[in-house]
Amino acid sequence: MNGTLYLCATPIGNLGDITERVLNTLREADMIACEDTRGSLKLLSHFDIHTPMTSYHEFNKYDKAVTIIGMLKEGKDVALITDAGTPVISDPGEVLVRMCHEEGISVTSLPGPCACITALSLSGISGRRFCFEGFLPHDKKERSFVLSELKRESRTMILYEAPHHLKATLAVLYETLGDRELAVCRELTKRFEEVVPTTLEAAVRYYEENEPRGEYVLVLAGRDPEEAAAEERQKYEELTIEEHVKRYEDQGLDHKAAMKQAAQDRGVPKREIYNALHKT
Ligand code: SAM
Repeated sequence: MNGTLYLCATPIGNLGDITERVLNTLREADMIACEDTRGSLKLLSHFDIHTPMTSYHEFNKYDKAVTIIGMLKEGKDVALITDAGTPVISDPGEVLVRMCHEEGISVTSLPGPCACITALSLSGISGRRFCFEGFLPHDKKERSFVLSELKRESRTMILYEAPHHLKATLAVLYETLGDRELAVCRELTKRFEEVVPTTLEAAVRYYEENEPRGEYVLVLAGRDPEEAAAEERQKYEELTIEEHVKRYEDQGLDHKAAMKQAAQDRGVPKREIYNALHKT
């Protein structure tokens, strides 16, 4: 019988946040796959866990997944941990989980600490609808695509950033999105945990004078939906009614449906569109 892959969340700072289930699983597993064996050894020694370890990280995530799948097929149970927090969340794991699904190997998750959820809950910014962006891509083209998507995003956005990139990231977010409500969440669950409710503009100014230190999560308010709707309406108002209806016809709508959609976009009754198009 195949073994099971256990996705184990580990603390993002405070060791007291590890769960009893994770400790038991790490003790009982046949193997612990971790990003950095030296770093994880500290965590495991603290809890007196002596299960054998193997490295599983960004740079061996395909080859090593094959080896781990082999162990699971021999009936061994494998626990996957990362340097901190929940596997797969801006951390390795995805490839291995996918391969397990493809091979019919059971995977289960032992939930626990995750910086993005911890930050969101502390931020004071709406948690009703949110999206997790993780780290902004380094590649220029990819980054500008992501930024253009974020500009339109109406959900609360959560981003990760390393201290040495924080200033540049805040600057580019401010440049693209304009001023927005922001919570800068730093060193979560640690001794110097800090959550600063601020705005993008104020944060850019603050970090011009102060060197970022520690680990950061940025929680950023989404675009105001009313403002977005007004901008959309203005965009449509720049079209003549004929151009507006034709645009929908070009997309495949029949004349009646195109008029209905244009009326909806412009916030006017359908008759107004009809009269404008069919005036004699
Ligand atoms: N898998 C992890 C999780 O579940 O949150 C995230 C790993 S990602 C490689 C590391 C990033 O998470 C850091 O650069 C930082 O943005 C964020 N992070 C991790 N621990 C944090 C903490 N204690 N306080 C603030 N941010 C943290």
